[in-house]
Amino acid sequence: MATFKAIRIDKTETGQSAKLGEFDEADLMEGDVTFDVEWSTVNYKDGLAVTGKAPVVRRFPMIAGIDAVGTIETTSHRDWKRGDKVILNGWGCGETHLGAYAEKARVKGDWLVPLPAGMRGRDAMAIGTAGYTAMLCVMALERAGLMPDRGPVIVTGAAGGVGSVAVALLAKLGYQVTASTGRPQEADYLKSLGATEIVDRKDLSGPAKPLARERWAGGIDSVGSTTLANVLSMTKYGGAVAACGLAGGMDLPGSVAPFILRGVSLFGVDSVMCPQHLRREAWKRLDSDLDRAKLAAMTTEIELTDVIEAGRRIVEGGVRGRIVVKIR
Ligand code: NDP
Repeated sequence: MATFKAIRIDKTETGQSAKLGEFDEADLMEGDVTFDVEWSTVNYKDGLAVTGKAPVVRRFPMIAGIDAVGTIETTSHRDWKRGDKVILNGWGCGETHLGAYAEKARVKGDWLVPLPAGMRGRDAMAIGTAGYTAMLCVMALERAGLMPDRGPVIVTGAAGGVGSVAVALLAKLGYQVTASTGRPQEADYLKSLGATEIVDRKDLSGPAKPLARERWAGGIDSVGSTTLANVLSMTKYGGAVAACGLAGGMDLPGSVAPFILRGVSLFGVDSVMCPQHLRREAWKRLDSDLDRAKLAAMTTEIELTDVIEAGRRIVEGGVRGRIVVKIR
């Protein structure tokens, strides 16, 4: 029976264990597309899955990894043929369906998005769920009417994956970007991505006032908790904020004052079950609106053997930008 390399998570008496080993092809789950995985990436959720720091994995054994790009080997799905290059993000992969840290994946063809013609597989995974979520946030803000002439925008968790891509995207689209980070040593990095102002994470992490001085027209928040509450309290009249993350906590200890006194809007962004038309639009926009040189500058490359250690670092907030994983 054919086997392939994979990062396998098993249940143990004390919790779970993750290790690189061989996986039997016969044990792949149902799906109408089987593809050779070429690149993957490490997102915050992947870090939670491989360390077991949060109950992300809900089926055992599991192959971790929420993102993959690769080439279709076999398919019975109407939209795909052998040889097509495809992107997989989310849909429970690495959580309830066998995931991406493997040489092979079998999934539903309905989950896949075509790799844009002008994009290399490595770039797609440098973007990954973190970058595609940053794009979904930008699109949510645009739907709310946010434009560069409305004033500066803030990005929190700016030196992380979602944050780095959000800074680069917003700068390319003409926004004046304020980057909030807990790593002042990354100020030059954030400026190289297009931020014009750096705010210390501490300025936004204390208890939030119902309303504070109006500072930005909008924001992209990957931190949650008091940070998001502060961002909302400092958003200008009629502004909009997209919330996608919880790196600082899952609570939202704020006030309705920004909503009812300043007409501020808060948009929730989910990448996992996001409908296909938005995914396809996001990937098209990432192809056209993300500066590839900036993407390269925020990306480091590792191998499958390094993923578990990288997962540990990302949950400790120690990863800058994005990590791609070379699978083949
Ligand atoms: P990263 O670890 O790459 O980035 C998170 C950043 O948040 C860190 O780099 C750090 O930025 C900041 N941060 C970390 N810990 C804290 C803390 N305790 N308080 C304040 N800031 C903190 O992760 P990702 O960018 O991959 O993901 C970011 C968040 O978005 C995660 O919570 C993730 O689960 C979520 N997410 C949600 C998605 C969705 O579908 N809604 C999709 C993708 C991600 P700095 O050092 O600059 O301060």
